[in-house]
Amino acid sequence: MTYIQNIMLQLLFALLPFVLFTIYYRDKPVNYSRNFITVTSCACLILSMTFPSTVETGFIFDIRYVIMFFGILFGGLPTGVTLLAVFLLYRLYLGGEGMLSAYTILIATFPLSILLCDWYHRAKERKQLIVFLAGISFSVIPLLILFIMETKYMLSHLSFHIMVMPVQNSLGIWLLISLFKKAAADKELFISYVHNERVQAISHVAASLAHEVRNPLTSVMGFLKLIRNPSLPREKVDQYIDVCTEELARMQTILSEYLAVSRPLGKHKEEIDLSEQIYAVTDVMTPYANMNNVKLVVEDIRSMSIRVESNRDEMKQLLINFIKNAIEACSDRHDGMVIIRLLASNHEAGLLIKDNGVGMSSEQIKRLGTVYFSTKSTGTGLGLTFSYQLIRSLGGRVNVRSEQGNGTEFVIRLPIAAAES
Ligand code: ADP
Ligand code: MG
Repeated sequence: MTYIQNIMLQLLFALLPFVLFTIYYRDKPVNYSRNFITVTSCACLILSMTFPSTVETGFIFDIRYVIMFFGILFGGLPTGVTLLAVFLLYRLYLGGEGMLSAYTILIATFPLSILLCDWYHRAKERKQLIVFLAGISFSVIPLLILFIMETKYMLSHLSFHIMVMPVQNSLGIWLLISLFKKAAADKELFISYVHNERVQAISHVAASLAHEVRNPLTSVMGFLKLIRNPSLPREKVDQYIDVCTEELARMQTILSEYLAVSRPLGKHKEEIDLSEQIYAVTDVMTPYANMNNVKLVVEDIRSMSIRVESNRDEMKQLLINFIKNAIEACSDRHDGMVIIRLLASNHEAGLLIKDNGVGMSSEQIKRLGTVYFSTKSTGTGLGLTFSYQLIRSLGGRVNVRSEQGNGTEFVIRLPIAAAES
């Protein structure tokens, strides 16, 4: 019975990185990082070594080989080396007779882990087989070395070793690797969904854009026909040319802003002017608002220079997500209106996006920013998931005030990089 308890406890430790991954990365549109793997593997290693399976003082059996293999597989060699250092130091601290054999076993299994991980990454198929092989090797090699180095001890506890080691290591490796791999693959899929939702949002906007561009085109065409008339006075010709130039310049702005928001998201962070971004995005979103019969009002913020540290494309995407939602919330009203206002305090930039649309219940407000929460028939609930995550990563926060039937007010607060007005 104690064998089973020991094994169960070790398997629980082995699942720790997987459990922490699903909790920590739940709503985040990013996948695991090397630091995450290193930290969780170290915690797991220390826990399993502190509460190991044991039959004789000084000899401890934990899931160190499982963790090493996992760490190298998902975190790479730097994680493996960190784990090795943690193991060597902690094992030295724990001491006992089994220390020498433990170090010897690790000298044999550590390079093997690196080789197997390399094989795993290069293999196109049969990855499961490599995991199985790793499980078997990390059960048999320690047993053999222990048998050679500590024959007497080994023989007196043979049943313990034959039962505990293979189950702990093979099952541990298989469980951890397959569950973690599945969770990471699901996350990858989720990230591509978030990307698709961006494409979808942009294609919605594109439909309204085509509408918006058609009107000025028609009027430019009309004016050009008028200018053809040789009897038209010179000042009239100049006036028409001015109108055409203005219309074409406006179209050019809208189209170039649209191209700017539809290109792939960059990663580079820089100091950006918030009001500049707002004007750029509202240029693109105005046609969408017009198509939905909603008035989009940007309160005069031209004189305000509020700078925040962010990636330009991501900030635009964030603004589009909030403004698009606000427009969609008002689309059934005849007097729909979306107001955008910038608020500045000493160390924070505030951006208010207010609409008089359908509003939300308190239940709905609580679920904002969580994965797949949407009340729209064709909605994805990924727009705000991305936006909330970005705001958090910039050290900001969001306040929401909403009343069903009476509209919604979002206030996004971001740390300021520099401000002058
Ligand atoms: P989607 O727009 O695809 O539904 P989002 O993540 O952009 O996904 O929004 C999630 C949900 O939040 C929406 O379905 C809607 O119910 C709610 N929501 C967001 N903004 C507003 C708003 N301004 N007014 C009312 N409801 C909103
Ligand atoms: Mg949306």
